[in-house]
Amino acid sequence: MADCVFCKIAAGEIPSDKVYEDDEVLAFRDIHPQTPVHILVIPKAHIAAGAADIHAGNAAAVGKCYTAIAEIARRLKLEGGFRIVTNSGGAAGQTVPHLHFHLLAGRDLMLNMG
Ligand code: 5GP
Ligand code: ZN
Repeated sequence: MADCVFCKIAAGEIPSDKVYEDDEVLAFRDIHPQTPVHILVIPKAHIAAGAADIHAGNAAAVGKCYTAIAEIARRLKLEGGFRIVTNSGGAAGQTVPHLHFHLLAGRDLMLNMG
């Protein structure tokens, strides 16, 4: 999608600090990290917009992203635990309308449930 920031990152038009990539999934560090480890995991294909828009025709991308998440957790040795967050819709704080998963780790997440 032409004016989607995550599509531009997936296409290499906007640089990113990549931590994982395969044919269908890209993961890169969030530009404004909320935790010491804050990675965004996205399908390279534009899936608009969030969790509310998953259906049988695009649900495979969710599985691909979670498979990548498990691999990233192994590579970064996140044995202590991590959290996956998907904001869906403006009231939840979603700002980029391209499906994405926040992978958060690196400090006591029990203090950060809000
Ligand atoms: P949302 O608020 O939609 O759930 O999450 C969007 C996330 O994308 C935010 O945490 C924001 O910091 C991140 N973000 C927005 N633009 C860029 C960018 O150009 N590069 C990177 N690495 N992260 C971005
Ligand atoms: Zn997009």
